[in-house]
Amino acid sequence: MKLPWRVILLWTLPVLVVGFFLWQGAFSSNVGTTSAGQNAANTRMTYGRFLEYLDAGRVTSVDLYEGGQTAIVEAVDPELDDRVQRLRVDLPMAAPDLVSKIRESGVNLDSHPVRNDGAVFGILGNLVFPLLLVVGLFFLFRRSSNVPGGPGQAMNFGKSRAKFQMDAKTGVLFDDVAGVDEAKEELEEVVTFLKKPERFTAIGARIPKGVLLVGPPGTGKTLLAKAIAGEAGVPFFSISGSEFVEMFVGVGASRVRDLFKKAKENAPCIIFIDEIDAVGRQRGAGIGGGNDEREQTLNQLLTEMDGFESNTGIIIIAATNRPDVLDSALLRPGRFDRQVTVEAPDVKGRRSVLEVHARNKKLADEVSLEAIARRTPGFTGADLANLLNEAAILTARRRKEAIEMVEIDDAVDRVIAGMEGTAMVDSKSKRLVAYHEVGHAIVGTLLKDHDPVQKVTLIPRGQARGLTWFTPNEDQMLVSRSQLLARICGALGGRAAEQIVFGDSEITTGASNDLQQVTNMARQMVTRFGMSDLGPLSLESQGGEVFLGRDLGASRSEYSEKVAARIDTQVRAISEACYQDTLKLVEDNREVVDRLVDLLVDKETIDGEEFRQIVAEYAEVPVKDQVVPQL
Ligand code: ADP
Ligand code: ZN
Repeated sequence: MKLPWRVILLWTLPVLVVGFFLWQGAFSSNVGTTSAGQNAANTRMTYGRFLEYLDAGRVTSVDLYEGGQTAIVEAVDPELDDRVQRLRVDLPMAAPDLVSKIRESGVNLDSHPVRNDGAVFGILGNLVFPLLLVVGLFFLFRRSSNVPGGPGQAMNFGKSRAKFQMDAKTGVLFDDVAGVDEAKEELEEVVTFLKKPERFTAIGARIPKGVLLVGPPGTGKTLLAKAIAGEAGVPFFSISGSEFVEMFVGVGASRVRDLFKKAKENAPCIIFIDEIDAVGRQRGAGIGGGNDEREQTLNQLLTEMDGFESNTGIIIIAATNRPDVLDSALLRPGRFDRQVTVEAPDVKGRRSVLEVHARNKKLADEVSLEAIARRTPGFTGADLANLLNEAAILTARRRKEAIEMVEIDDAVDRVIAGMEGTAMVDSKSKRLVAYHEVGHAIVGTLLKDHDPVQKVTLIPRGQARGLTWFTPNEDQMLVSRSQLLARICGALGGRAAEQIVFGDSEITTGASNDLQQVTNMARQMVTRFGMSDLGPLSLESQGGEVFLGRDLGASRSEYSEKVAARIDTQVRAISEACYQDTLKLVEDNREVVDRLVDLLVDKETIDGEEFRQIVAEYAEVPVKDQVVPQL
């Protein structure tokens, strides 16, 4: 939740401070006045019981004390021959209509002023504090209710304002979604279900109720769902799974109910549930018992899905990146029985996504979408959209007429590595970063199986203080053992250079990310790819991470502890061997490394071609057998 903390602090601080002083005043004055009615009746009655008695007409008189905080109530008890009882009741402060209620029931009502003068302040204090609190809170909620997810909405839970969006016309068409042709084909059928249900029901076919879109974030799942609604011309209801699950038990379930109620009123329509894994995880899983709220919400969702006929024209589309953690009840026939996979696009797909998003942008003639597509393996549709948008922003900032290749290049860097910072001033640490980066780059250049260097730079971006860019291989599906080893060496190049040049005691934390990657790759070589002395075994499934609950324990039990120890030994052996190779490589090329560092500190960026030319003066640079996109 994005709470405007500043707003809350601004408002609560004065309220609390003022409230504290008043509370103090009220407190001390109470000490002097409590005696007022206390001796008269020592038996207490709860406020709830008092109201019951009042409704039953058993109360005969009410005497208010302490400014209305306490009452001595006289009531008759029919079970004890109408004997009169005197009972003490603590009244809640927030019962303003109580007095009129008492009067309406014709009960004797009297109020007793407190005796000492200080108590006048006490009464005032007692009134002012809650009043201030109420006023303060009122403003607080009003201020923050504009913010989605702010407490203003939390106050409305369960009542009316459900947190789903409705879009009467999404205006999105299948043409706006690119690079996911298979998914589109499958979903075109859903459009027909919505437009011409008779065609299916006439021959007794059951129209599916739910479609599960599976794929990483940013691949266009939401966009696809919107396109279905847009093509079929039906309203689009959307909610995110995480919005179902709130801190109050029961809210999620009531939101589900609201959502389906609204949808039924607007059928035919699409209901889109993003991040369904937030509610749809296996029930009864999770460490420390299940989450009641989530389970209730999930149960409500299942009930609603079962509760409407399949031909009412409501189709529920849900999106997730983790279908494996979903409760199997969700995947049963009659619920989300169709799964459509939406993958990150390949080079052709990326090209067509770029075409879609270039429609409304001015590109210079030199810009080739083909080249951008080749340069961006692994980019999702959202990344590509973001990339073109960043390029357009840069172009506007540079007051150019059309987006040129420089802007595209800068935008790619920004999307991959974050915002550009300002370069460091000359210092020892600048030199250290330079050695670290040149270390990566020289290893990458000299190893035949490593991707070629695209550029080395000391201009920080995001978290990184310097960066070495490699031209990635196009969508490589198969990676060989020697390529993996080369990547491990390349990643170790930074640390190796630091150690050789500055010594053991001067190595820095800058390599932590590199080391993480090294360990990851080495571990996968052993446990997944069968590339170590352990032999061709698969010991871990992809992803490997422990999902709270269900997989806990299970993921480790695929092998014995003995094997676990051998895995560790192998991982260490691979990393260690690569590190020794890398140290040697950097040491043997120390002369050119020093020269490149001087150049880098001076120029701040060296591009791959220049880098290779300089290295070639000292050593043989292997020719890489891949096509480097010419940009
Ligand atoms: P998801 O729901 O899979 O996380 P979205 O549908 O929200 O992804 O994608 C976010 C944005 O990225 C879209 O609004 C669109 O601009 C762009 N985008 C993503 N995938 C595609 C695609 N396949 N074709 C065109 N644009 C896309
Ligand atoms: Zn590094």
